[in-house]
This record gives sequence, C-alpha cells and structure tokens, in this order.
Amino acid sequence: MNNIIRKAIDLIKSIDEISIISHTSPDGDNVGSILAMGLALKQMGKRIKIIKTDIIPSDYLFLQHVDMIQEYDEKDIELLIVLDCSDIDRLGKLKDIVSKSKNTINIDHHISNTAFADYNIVDSKAAATGEIIYLFLNQMGIEIDEEIATCIYTAISTDTGSFLYESVTDTTHEIAAELLRKGIDKNKIILNLYQSRSMERTNLFIDCLSSFKTYHNNKIATVMVTQDMLKKANAQMEDTEGIISFVKDTKGVEVACLLKENSEGIIKASLRSKEYIDVAKICSEFSGGGHIRAAGCSINENIETAEKLIVQKLIDMW
Ligand code: 5GP
Ligand code: MN
Repeated sequence: MNNIIRKAIDLIKSIDEISIISHTSPDGDNVGSILAMGLALKQMGKRIKIIKTDIIPSDYLFLQHVDMIQEYDEKDIELLIVLDCSDIDRLGKLKDIVSKSKNTINIDHHISNTAFADYNIVDSKAAATGEIIYLFLNQMGIEIDEEIATCIYTAISTDTGSFLYESVTDTTHEIAAELLRKGIDKNKIILNLYQSRSMERTNLFIDCLSSFKTYHNNKIATVMVTQDMLKKANAQMEDTEGIISFVKDTKGVEVACLLKENSEGIIKASLRSKEYIDVAKICSEFSGGGHIRAAGCSINENIETAEKLIVQKLIDMW
C-alpha cells in the first residue's frame, strides 16, 4: 500500500467525527463518491457530516441516504475529506473550509488537481473518483455493501458516459463487475440515471439543439442554453445534462461546446472532445480545467462573445 494512503487511513481511524464535502454543480461522481465514503465511515462507527456546497441535481435523489448531505453548520472540523474536486475554488463559497479544518484529505482523479490538502490521493488515470474510492475502501477493510456499491456504480457510470469514454480501463470494468456482485440493482440505477428524463428536460433539449452551430469544417460544434430557454421550458440548468454528449456524437465533430448562461454575463462553458483535442488545455486558457476529454471554465461575457472566444481559442490552438 502506498504510504500516503496508509497515513490517510490511519488518520481516518484515529478521528471520531469526520466531515465530507461536495463541490459546486455536483455531478454523479461527486455525489456517489461522498455518499459511498459517508456510508463506509458510518459503518466504521464514525460520526459523519456530509456538507452540501450546492443543490444536488434531481438525477441523484434516488440514492439512499442522499439526505445525509446537509448544509454547513459552521462547527469546527477535525478531519475534512474532499472528493472529486480539483481545487478549492470548486468548493465555491465554502472554499475557506479547507484552511479552517484541522486535517484534510483530498481524493481525486483530475490531472489539474492542485494537491491542496494534507494528504492528496490523486490518480489521473482513474476514470472516476468512484474508482479510487472503491480501492481505498477495500484497503481500509470496509465491507462494501449493496448501498455503498450503488453509490460507487453511480459515480463510475456517470463519469464515464456509461462506460463509453476513453478513460475507461480494464480496472474500471473489473470494479464494475465486483460492484454487480455486491447485489446492486443495475437496471434500477440505469432507469433512474438515464431513462427518467423529465418532459421539461426534453423540451429544453429541443430548444437548445436548435442553437446548434458548427465551425472549422464541422469539427467544432456549439450549443447554448440561455435563461430565457430555461424559463420557456420550465427547466433548470441541471437539465442540460446529456445535451453535450448528443452534440459530440455527431460524425466528424471533435469538440463539442455547451455554453450555459448562469446569469446575464456569467457563462459556464462545458467542452468535450472525442479523439485528439485536449480540452483541459483550452479551458485552462480561461482559468478553468478538467480532463483531456471533458473540461469546463467560466467566462464573464455575454453568451455570444463567450462562444466566439472559445471557438477562436480552439481554432488557434488546433
Ligand atoms: P462539466 O463540463 O461537466 O461541468 O465539467 C467537466 C469536467 O471539467 C469536470 O471534471 C469538472 O470538474 C471540470 N470543470 C468544469 N468546470 C471547471 C472549472 O471552472 N474549473 C476547473 N478547474 N474545472 C472545471
Ligand atoms: Mn469525476
């Protein structure tokens, strides 16, 4: 066992009350990982707090014990565990919590992770933080029950586009197989994650896809979601989940870009690539980051200008 992992495990064993924190715009990997860790540590007899940094998207509310994720109560933290979070800015308004906590552990798979904690367990080859959590819990001697397995399966499935992405390895499939052997209801998880799209979300997809544009010989495709579109479809920003994959899956498209108008002049861009463009590098040009094939950034411009800036940067760096 690696020395840092051993020290992190010893630290966890020595502390009775442990806090775990989600990141802003939490995705399935984040929610699944924090719940899996929370349930595992509870099994060890620890008192656990899971701190909510942002709204939990409805996609993940089917997970049992999701109500363990609660607002920050401002109390002193002996040990804080941060999962699937590349840097403290991803903790939004709660980012100071890291320096305020006595001990910190950071478990993540982002190549851009800034190693902000006392113990940093970062493996950029892992397809999801959920993969690292699975191995970590095994090393800790935790009995991975069906509930914990469901959370980890959710983490890995959502962060790999249902096991489609390039990041998926033999290890990913081995872990998935072991999770299935824990008795998880895979069909129910898939039904909840991918086959329960609300009518509002479908309507938002239709509207958003009508903004589809391509550049650079159809190798770049963009779509956008404005506040007006959300109002029209009676949808939330989280309902954009899935649009970008659909755009990327167009033949010949290498980079898909979804521009989300969080509020006027505050644009969140999501980028995905298929084979050869490093979108993390593109997003780092706008102070963002992520993975080679999936990254994001924020741009404080109107949505049309943000689109132009990203498309231009892509073409310049192609
Ligand atoms: P998404 O496009 O789904 O929001 O994010 C894709 C990936 O990029 C995720 O792994 C996420 O952590 C990362 N990412 C998204 N936005 C940002 C950002 O503003 N800064 C950094 N550092 N990473 C981001
Ligand atoms: Mn992740």
